[in-house]
Amino acid sequence: MARKAPNSEESGKKTKADSDPVNRDSTDTAAPSNFIKDIIEEDRKNNKNDGRVATRFPPEPNGYLHIGHAKSICLNFGIASEYQGTCNLRFDDTNPTTEEVKYVESIKSDIRWLGFDWGDRLYYASDYFEKLYQYAVQLIKDGKAYVCSLSEDEIKDYRGDYYKKARESPYCSRPVDESLELLERMRAGEFEEGAHVLRAKIDINSPNMNMRDPIIYRIRKERHHRTGDKWCIYPMYDFAHCLSDSLEGITHSICTLEFEDHRPLYDWFLDELAVDCHPQQIEFARLNLSYTVMSKRKLLELVEQRHVSGWDDPRMPTVSGLRRRGYTPESIRNFCERIGVAKADSMVDVALLEYCLREDLNERAPRVMGVLRPLRVVIDNLPEGQVEEFDAPYHPTDPSFGSRKVPFSRVLYIEREDFREDPPGKWFRLAPGREVRLRYACIIKCVDVVKDEKTEEVVELHCTWDPESRGGNPPDGRKIKGTLHWVSADHSLEAEVRLYDRLFTKANPLEEKNGSDFTAQINPESLEILKSCRVEPSLAGAKPESKYQFERLGYFCVDPVDSTGERLVFNRTVPLRDTWAKIEKAQLEADRRK
Ligand code: ATP
Ligand code: MG
Repeated sequence: MARKAPNSEESGKKTKADSDPVNRDSTDTAAPSNFIKDIIEEDRKNNKNDGRVATRFPPEPNGYLHIGHAKSICLNFGIASEYQGTCNLRFDDTNPTTEEVKYVESIKSDIRWLGFDWGDRLYYASDYFEKLYQYAVQLIKDGKAYVCSLSEDEIKDYRGDYYKKARESPYCSRPVDESLELLERMRAGEFEEGAHVLRAKIDINSPNMNMRDPIIYRIRKERHHRTGDKWCIYPMYDFAHCLSDSLEGITHSICTLEFEDHRPLYDWFLDELAVDCHPQQIEFARLNLSYTVMSKRKLLELVEQRHVSGWDDPRMPTVSGLRRRGYTPESIRNFCERIGVAKADSMVDVALLEYCLREDLNERAPRVMGVLRPLRVVIDNLPEGQVEEFDAPYHPTDPSFGSRKVPFSRVLYIEREDFREDPPGKWFRLAPGREVRLRYACIIKCVDVVKDEKTEEVVELHCTWDPESRGGNPPDGRKIKGTLHWVSADHSLEAEVRLYDRLFTKANPLEEKNGSDFTAQINPESLEILKSCRVEPSLAGAKPESKYQFERLGYFCVDPVDSTGERLVFNRTVPLRDTWAKIEKAQLEADRRK
């Protein structure tokens, strides 16, 4: 991480954690390190954990992974590999209500696709249910937990809040034996949901709400996707998580900032149970990206309300959506490295992600030609049936990409917007009487314009080509400023192209205005489907997910779901950063104002 990119989270504000020696921030140093690595290096220097580094990525299998998770994956797996340590994949599957096997499979496949490997270290919190239960029993025996028979609402009320003083549960002094017996009977399924819970006995007056006798176990009469009907009581996250970390010998438990207030509880369980391994919880700021939402619940809402076609809709910030859109794992990893890790929440501009993508695709995407909105061009001085072939390199600077032949024949297509009957100043594209270069081919001159009689719409151009300009340059050295992409009508293939724009119109769709829901900020023009595009013949049989730069238009990816042998479907991954188009637009506006 040598470079510091714009929008880096590292420029974030300081938080109270700055005064915390363990979770301190290192934003002031220009070093390519980060505060988490600083902690690890210090630990290694002191031979803490015998110098060992063990991290984990702990997803809850209740949705698909998104780019925020990718950040956590890159961080945990990245740190493990940097310090020759290990990184476990652990499914944090303690809530049977929302969890499903299909999510487990998609999470595994997304992590692999991102380029990380957990080897044989695949774990499930549900593997520890028996051990966790035994830990709970031990807490009761030590007088550190009790079965509470208040209702959910009563518990909430008794715990008070910032303004209201808490009251102890009438059950907090329940005799150990009674709690033990009740817990056993809870496990045996003797009670209905909500009849009892197991609570830690910590401090009902703690300023930290998490420490006010938190719930450890609750009754849930639900089938679990792995343990089936074996259990009808399930441990709460705070209890299961720290102990799972400990059981796996994790050294550094890296999580997001919202768990900062849970850290005392994390430590409390491990201290009270006197476990051998006491991992250190370290929090970092979660990734927020502009023009999108990141929480699984909100993403689920988008899917369920059909604002998008599914979790892998190319407009979604999910790993599967980004993948379908044409993002590469390298670009995502690179992005995660550039944004760095910080202790303060901030919002990263989605333009940075797109920048990382372009940078990667620029190197790996072959250049081809496709016309999105075709306009017919007849080359009057090229006889029917005559086909010229021009050699076109697949990459402008890397010869290892090789080249292909592009056919040039009497009828061609160019982009409709590359022709103007009445061109403004500084128009270098095609217009009546004007000359342009066809990329890799030759110079053509527009000699006639055919219009629809009724609508006056231009439907066809007649041009002549200069056979002396084969390859693109006229032998007399006359200057040709414009270069257009094109395809041969007969040789080209039909394709559908989907153009995507940001899913939301607001940088922060969650910013509440007039109490409106975030779906009110959805961009109604986030998807445009063009059905009769034409692409060059070399794209026949293009493989799903293969990526191309359509010259002058942007990067495109073969849609892995809808593209078949017969039907070519491309997703526009990202437009080119076409500064030229911007300059031209400004010029047009200036002309109009004159
Ligand atoms: P969400 O809030 O999107 O529903 P979550 O935190 O509930 O996500 P988990 O499956 O619990 O999802 O997350 C697995 C790991 O990924 C956790 O360690 C979590 O801290 C981390 N993570 C989740 N969202 C982000 C994010 N936006 N940025 C960085 N890390 C994240
Ligand atoms: Mg979570």
